Formats: sequence, structure tokens, C-alpha cells
Amino acid sequence: MTDLTHADWQSLAGAFRPVTEHHIDGGPHAGGGRTFTVVSPRDGRALAEVACGGQGEVDLAVAAARRAFDEGPWPRLTPTERGRALVRFAELVEEHRTELALAVSLEMGKPVTEAYGIELRAVANTFRWYGEAADKLVDELPQTAADALALVTREPVGVVAAVVPWNFPLTMAAWKIAPALAAGCTAVLKPAEQSPLSALLLGRLSVEAGLPPGVFNVVAGDGPEAGRALGLHPGVDVLAFTGSTAVGRHFLRYAADSNLKRVWLELGGKSPNIVFPDAPDLAAAAASAAWGIFFNQGEMCTAPSRLLVHRSIADEVVDAVVERGRTLRVGDPLDPATEMGALVTEAHLKRVQGHIETARAEGARLRCGGGRLDRPGTYLEPTVFDQVTPDMALARDEIFGPVLSVLTFDTEDEAVRLANATEYGLAAAVWTANLSTAHRVSRAVRAGTVWVNCYEEGGLNVPFGGMKQSGHGRDKSLHALDKYTDLKTTWVQL
Ligand code: NAD
Repeated sequence: MTDLTHADWQSLAGAFRPVTEHHIDGGPHAGGGRTFTVVSPRDGRALAEVACGGQGEVDLAVAAARRAFDEGPWPRLTPTERGRALVRFAELVEEHRTELALAVSLEMGKPVTEAYGIELRAVANTFRWYGEAADKLVDELPQTAADALALVTREPVGVVAAVVPWNFPLTMAAWKIAPALAAGCTAVLKPAEQSPLSALLLGRLSVEAGLPPGVFNVVAGDGPEAGRALGLHPGVDVLAFTGSTAVGRHFLRYAADSNLKRVWLELGGKSPNIVFPDAPDLAAAAASAAWGIFFNQGEMCTAPSRLLVHRSIADEVVDAVVERGRTLRVGDPLDPATEMGALVTEAHLKRVQGHIETARAEGARLRCGGGRLDRPGTYLEPTVFDQVTPDMALARDEIFGPVLSVLTFDTEDEAVRLANATEYGLAAAVWTANLSTAHRVSRAVRAGTVWVNCYEEGGLNVPFGGMKQSGHGRDKSLHALDKYTDLKTTWVQL
């Protein structure tokens, strides 16, 4: 944690000088002169004019990554040497933690204390974890007849492009870049157009960490232009994407229309949070439900946005969640007392408000919130709807804002049916003291992660990713290396 005060952060924000150029082939690159404006959701003011990359910059960055992979030292270093550079990168992230956290908070609106305490800690931990893992991997030697020798080795897959969203702009990037680099790949990162500043700063730091030119490149730009150019690029071997399911579909098409690059998708969610009457602590379940949906302004792929609560305890649990929603401190992301900041953009806030209007029109009952705060910036009240039915849009659509839908159930079968009644399968939780119920339900729910009597717990050593239309492939853990390596079989006849 940091003991910087609101006044300290405000004064740092006043002195903030963002990096606005791409990071290509080991240095800044101004691009062709086109720029776009990054606006802070905190107050609606322009933060920076940032270089806007298109086909030309993507070509340069991919060519640099290609050269670094085909001819440069990075894939040829020993795993221990690569690991050391990644650990050094982690240390630099820690040294620049205040500046990076400020960039994240200003560009996308989350409380700066969360950017500092949660996001930046995760980013440093990710680079350190994969750096330390780099020289602990082993290959396979399958059993053969005495006159043969079979080797199964992992090889880095080549140039990796990572296209990421704005909600955890650096964590999502680190979850892809760190294992890709540890495996010996080179990378091009395209941050979201809403949040390029923290990523461009990360690009600068990679030089100090000693990453050779071209190993890690950052191109800022729009999705439909720079993102599409990466998706279609014949020089990209793997495209690792985190973002919406709609854009994930584009990347599969880009791959089909170009070089059949491998595409890994971490997509949206509508995660069920199931509370049984025998939950060990109903107050804890309610507190966790509220924390989960309001944390990061609800802009979280794993947000427990559907609270499925047994009818017999619904009033008790929902009243507690509503009370938390009413008392949550929404405001300036730079104030350490703030618990929920601003939504990422005006357009996104309007989209979330549209979902709220639809929910009202469909007959869901508004228990708290629903309104925009009367102040500059894009602030929304924490919002809870109950009496939601499975046919309502509120029960199906990912809102990606601080809006909770509450549905009730009477039996375990009904809870599982409701939980699975979605195209998504990212995460779920079940609250019960009964071991059998916990295991039965977690097996029956189609989700990449199921939490029992908790939410959002986990470390870097467990995989993260989705089932169904929440995507495929896993970030985090050693399994992430599967995305960035090819298996080679060498069969030797002795
Ligand atoms: P988005 O899909 O709109 O954008 C994500 C990235 O894709 C951005 O970099 C954007 O520039 C790029 N992009 C947009 N349109 C493109 C196009 N036509 N071609 C190529 N690239 C394009 O998502 P968002 O609004 O930034 O983020 C919110 C979404 O991300 C939510 O659906 C959320 O659930 C999801 N998400 C998923 C995870 C996960 O791990 N599963 C984590 C965080 C966010």
C-alpha cells in the first residue's frame, strides 16, 4: 500500500507527462503524424494526444519482432538469462509503480489505490513469476523401443501479438507478454484506445530492463485499424486477445482470412454467484457479492453480475448488498477514500445506462442506484435490480458496469440451470457449508473458474480462462506457456 494522500496524487496528476509515442524496435516512434486524444473519465478533460498507429506502424513493429525472433539474441539466450531480464522488468515496474498506477487511474478511471495496490502488484508479480519459471521447465522423453530415442521439446512459437482491453490495461497485457517472452517469443502489444498511456510507459521500461530491440513493441491505435492489422498480419504467429466476445469473433475471421495464425481468446462473462441457505456466513456472502459487482466499477470480466440466491434467504442477502451499494463512496479516483471511480468513457456510461433503462422497462425492480452522479466525469451509482427473470436482457447481457441482477431459486437443480443459462462460461461461485453440494454444483456449472465460499481468490499458479463463448486457452500458470510454444517431436533411430 502507499501512504500518498489525495493532495499528493492530485499534485502528481498535475505534473503527469505521459509517453505518447509508440515503442518500436527498442525506441520511441512518433508514427506518421496521426494522433488521437485520450480523455480522462475522472473529469472529462483531455490527458494526451497519442500517436495513432495503423498498418504502417503495425508493419514496422511486426518486422522488428520478426527480426528479433529470427536473428536476435532473445530466443537464443539461455532460459536463465531470459528469466533474469523478466525479473529485472518486474523490479522496474515496482520502481515506477506510482507513475504507472497514476497512468492507469487517469486513463480508465479506477481508484488509484486499487491501481497501485492490486493492478501494479499483479503486473510485477506476473513478470517475476514467469521470469523465475523460465528455467524450471522440462521437456519430455517418451518411452520407446531400445533402438530409438524420442524427444518432445517445446519451441517458442515466434511473433506474438497481444490485443487487450482497458479495464485492467497492464494486468491483461502482462498475463500475455510475460509467458510469451519467457518462452522465447517476441511480442507486439496493442493496448485499448482508451488506455494506451500505461502500456506505452511499460514499453519504455522494457529498454531499461535490458530486453533487446524488437523483443517487446507497443503500438497505440484503434481496434478496427491497428487491431485488425495485427489480426490479419502474415508475420504474426499467435494472436492473444482479451476483450469482448464480439471482437473475439473478428479475430477468428482475421486468422482464417490470413495465415491461420493461432488465436487465443479471453472474452466476456455473466458470472453466476450462487448462495445456498446453508452458506457458512451469509453476511460474508453478501459482502463478497457487493464487492464483486462494484469493484473496478463493475468493469470486470469475472464480475459476479448474476446473484442467484435461495428464495428463503433472498431478503437478508439482497438487503445487505443494497445497503453496501447505497453507502459505497463513489468519486474522484485519486482520493484514497474512494471505493468506486469513474466508468471508462462517456460512450460506455451511456451504454450501461441503456441497459438500466431496458431493465426497468422489462419490469425488474430497481433496489438502489441507477443514476449518474451530477459532477464532471463519468460516474454511476452502484445499482441493484431484483425480481429479475431469466428471459430479461438483464439476466443475459454482459453490462460491464456496476449493475447487479438478482434472481431467486428454490432447488439446487434450478440454481444450476439458471447458472448455465448463458452463452458465457468464465467464472462462478457457490456458497454452501455442504461439501457435496459444493462439489456437485461446481462440477455442473460450465465455467473456467468456480469459487467456493469466496470470490476472485487465486494466485498466478492457477490457470484462468473461459468455457463456451467466454473463450479458450488459459492465462496464468504454466499452462499459459502452451499458447506460446509448439511441441516438436524428434525421433532418432539408434
Ligand atoms: P473490446 O473487445 O471492445 O476491445 C478490446 C481490444 O480489442 C481493444 O484493444 C480494441 O482496440 C480491440 N478491438 C476493438 N475492435 C476491434 C476490431 N474490430 N478488430 C481488432 N481489434 C479490435 O473490449 P473492451 O471494451 O476494451 O473490454 C471489455 C470486454 O473485455 C468485456 O467484454 C470483458 O468481459 C472483456 N474482458 C475479458 C477478460 C477475460 O480475461 N476473459 C478480461 C478483461 C476484459
